[in-house]
Amino acid sequence: MSNSPLLSVSNLCVSFNTPDGVVQAVNDVSFDLFPGQTLGIVGESGSGKSVTASSLLRLNNSVTSTTTGSVQLEGRDVLTVDEPTMRSIRGQDIAMVFQDPLSALNPYYTVGDQIAEAYIIHHSSATKDDVRARVLEMLKKVGIPNPEKRIDEYPHQFSGGMRQRIVIAIALINSPRILIADEPTTALDVTVQAQILDLMLDLQRETGMAIILITHDLGVVAEVADSTLVMYGGRIVERATVSEIFATPTHPYSWGLLGAVGSLDTSTRGHLTTIPGTPPSLISLPTGCSFHPRCAYAKDTGSRCTTEVPELHKVSGTSSSSACHMSDAQLVSLGARGDTL
Ligand code: SF4
Repeated sequence: MSNSPLLSVSNLCVSFNTPDGVVQAVNDVSFDLFPGQTLGIVGESGSGKSVTASSLLRLNNSVTSTTTGSVQLEGRDVLTVDEPTMRSIRGQDIAMVFQDPLSALNPYYTVGDQIAEAYIIHHSSATKDDVRARVLEMLKKVGIPNPEKRIDEYPHQFSGGMRQRIVIAIALINSPRILIADEPTTALDVTVQAQILDLMLDLQRETGMAIILITHDLGVVAEVADSTLVMYGGRIVERATVSEIFATPTHPYSWGLLGAVGSLDTSTRGHLTTIPGTPPSLISLPTGCSFHPRCAYAKDTGSRCTTEVPELHKVSGTSSSSACHMSDAQLVSLGARGDTL
């Protein structure tokens, strides 16, 4: 992996004005993404992971939203470049695979036309034959059988897994340097899910692109990511490599997420644990650490958990960072012990 980041996100904050109040969807999020890296962003619904991802393509821009911070893509701030520059970044530098392939595709156009459209936007001088050849090449690359026939078919003629392959072909036709995949396998069964993840990794090996994978599924992270951001209440609460997040997680919320993952190990019997309570409203976040109403350890730190927002800091003895008021020694020993909530 290269030493200089491809993308540097600093202090990203995104809020939305709604009739019920201001939704603080993303709060002070910072991270770097390197060429060839796969970064998994995990958290429950409403944790801010999808809004973070769509901000990187400036898809949240509306009169009701406010975005601050910076998203540096090789010297350009994605949040402030003009709209023509942004259009050239979308698809060419950063592309996105959305969660539901059926709603991402237009039922009235053939899949060939939809893949071609993404290519023509960035290659306006390409001939019709060139475009068709490139679309066929992408259909082959993403594993669509009989592409010469299927290029002229419509989305409803494809299965869910094949539609997701089409959406990946649209995202990758311009060889982007960053692929954002927002829950790309949620609607798919596990065997198709494995095929889609393998396909993304194969294409990454071929092109060296970086991948940001948004998911609530830690199993998917374990399978494909190099490093992880765990988000809660719009903030990053833990940053770690994948091996560390599974071996020595250093945040109580991560312990809760890991405790809720099933195991095939039949020697350990017992119930899956759940995280008590529900994710907070982003309109009225709890004071202090927004996880405190659900955290079994909140009482151990006096009143700090309810009054002071914990900073994301490097946990000594690890390469992870955690946003928790407990001492580093406590976080490491409880995490290594496999504590849950
Ligand atoms: Fe729990 Fe307090 Fe740590 Fe938040 S800061 S995770 S409430 S112990």
